[in-house]
Amino acid sequence: MANHFFSLVIVPDSGSDIKSGILNIKFISFLFCILFITFIICLFFVVGYHIKLSQEREFNNLISTMDRLHNHIDKSKKILNTLSEKLLSVQNNDMALRKIAFMDVLDKDMYEAGIGGHALVDEALFSNFSGNFKDDLRLISLDITKLASRLNVQEESLGEINEKFQKNQKEINSTPSQLPTNSYRVTSGYSWRRNPITGKREFHRAVDLGGKRGDRIHATANGVVISAKISHGALGNCVRIRHGYGYETLYGHLNEIKVKPGQQVKKNEIIGTMGATGRASGVHVHYAILHFGDKINPMKYFSP
Ligand SMILES: [Zn+2]
Repeated sequence: MANHFFSLVIVPDSGSDIKSGILNIKFISFLFCILFITFIICLFFVVGYHIKLSQEREFNNLISTMDRLHNHIDKSKKILNTLSEKLLSVQNNDMALRKIAFMDVLDKDMYEAGIGGHALVDEALFSNFSGNFKDDLRLISLDITKLASRLNVQEESLGEINEKFQKNQKEINSTPSQLPTNSYRVTSGYSWRRNPITGKREFHRAVDLGGKRGDRIHATANGVVISAKISHGALGNCVRIRHGYGYETLYGHLNEIKVKPGQQVKKNEIIGTMGATGRASGVHVHYAILHFGDKINPMKYFSP
């Protein structure tokens, strides 16, 4: 191959002498090769440097994200511990309430019932993590499942307690636990006595409470009026109320009757006024309590 030459002519602006030289084509090719290789090497280093910078940034971001996640995990653990302690306090109150409501007290294992069941958090979500991070997430997941189980048991227990309290309240409101008058003057107790009208010795299965004609007579518990009659018999105008749970109350010698058979009455509702109708030696109310048909001492149910 023939050698080719190039002439290089340099013409300065200042009017100095023109300079010229001759360049061999092989030399020019060699120069270009060197420049190209130098460019490729520089490019490699520049690109490599940027890749390294980008990787470092990503790595630092990852470290920072990991730190934040660890902080979140620590905070989550603390929150779960606090919730667990609060739930334990609720469980203790639950036990106390069960005792007050005369219910069976659940043992501690029952409050933990359901633990070990199906995990609420899908562990596959963090299956790609490793080491402490994975263990921490698994423990948190387990704690959440435990808390949810305990809350379910607690919710059910409180529901039972609420139901029992309402039932107890209904029973309390249906139990005659007071006297039907504002006056507590007992003129004849639940005892043997000589009948003031007949003079015969008899057991008086009620209490007689003295007062003024027209004094208000109240129902002593919630119930339904089963009898309200104007009568000239021994008890005169008389009201009888059925309260449920085996209880009935009877109010005799009334002056006026203010209720009708079948009427629902509330504790303390006025059912009549005091009088002396029937066989009565003075103004009073004859008050009797029946429990499953037996007349019992009303004073035992009365707590002033
Ligand atoms: Zn009496």
